Amino acid sequence: MSSLARSGREGGLLRVWYVSPERLCNLHCSYCVSTGDYAKSSTVEWASHEERAVFEDAVRWLGSASTRIGLRMGTLGEPFASKTFLERAAWLTTRGHIEFVELLTNGALLGRGLPRLLAQADSSKVSLWITHHPAEVSAGKLIENARLAQEVYGCFVVVNALLFPDNVESIMALRDMAVESGLRFNVDLGYNPRTPRGLVGSSGQMVPSLRLQDFQSVLDKVGANHRLVQINLRALEGVQSQPCRAGHSYVYIAINGDVYRCSRYYVLRRNKIGNVRDREFRLRPLSGPASPCEAAFGCCNKEDFLNLEAAAAIRDEGAPSLGWSR
Ligand code: SF4
Ligand code: SF4
Repeated sequence: MSSLARSGREGGLLRVWYVSPERLCNLHCSYCVSTGDYAKSSTVEWASHEERAVFEDAVRWLGSASTRIGLRMGTLGEPFASKTFLERAAWLTTRGHIEFVELLTNGALLGRGLPRLLAQADSSKVSLWITHHPAEVSAGKLIENARLAQEVYGCFVVVNALLFPDNVESIMALRDMAVESGLRFNVDLGYNPRTPRGLVGSSGQMVPSLRLQDFQSVLDKVGANHRLVQINLRALEGVQSQPCRAGHSYVYIAINGDVYRCSRYYVLRRNKIGNVRDREFRLRPLSGPASPCEAAFGCCNKEDFLNLEAAAAIRDEGAPSLGWSR
């Protein structure tokens, strides 16, 4: 029996966000946050045998669970640049208990990458969160590839844009193209990658678009979800004692295989649950109603803060995505 079956929560969907150490990327975005120890690479998939081993163990652990899992998988680079990553993601979609596998992609390689993935994957379980990087990929190419994924291959597709002070017009144009093409469209707040660690809870430091005059009307122009933005800013600035279901029906698997209630708890190294490389590890999700958050501030990742009870009204429980909201 798997660890998850022992938890007695076989019936519920466990949402899992896994950030893998795979590094290969085809782009060179100036604002890329994959730097330092966790830098993306234009030449190698793995920085070491150890990182590859962690990845294989995480995939094995996810693939052998017996509870239903909805999985969002990221890399330090671009998933569709890595043959190994795609092969393992495809395998996970064929596991009966995996409801969906959502890949975070820049969308540039879908034309040749999707046929490679879907030759081995269950296409009905593939979900794509396609973020536009306008300096590297044209809006036209992005929309063309997103349409290919949705219309030809039947994937669940979201076209995503990150709002910064200087890209309002380009997001408006992208949104128009997405809507005309029948594609889901999302706008998230772009973050300043150079925000000092201690100022992560300062929305003024962290969110450059807040400096825009009439920020609220900009949100309307780009088609952002006001309630989502409110939750985002609130989560950044203060979450202490806020009821949250992270750790109940959602967990985070970090780059080293550590499992935490959420990525913020991982950053704070607070209440580690276990590690997927430990053969004795048995995941026992929290039971009962949502538990109060013990972090003071800085809950900055959407995968995490959508678990706040305050976000219940905008969570789309039926969507095969950890980022899509109502
Ligand atoms: S696509 Fe993502 S990982 Fe690759 S360079 Fe751009 S921001 Fe970095
Ligand atoms: S509010 Fe954020 S930091 Fe706190 S437990 Fe929930 S997801 Fe984690």
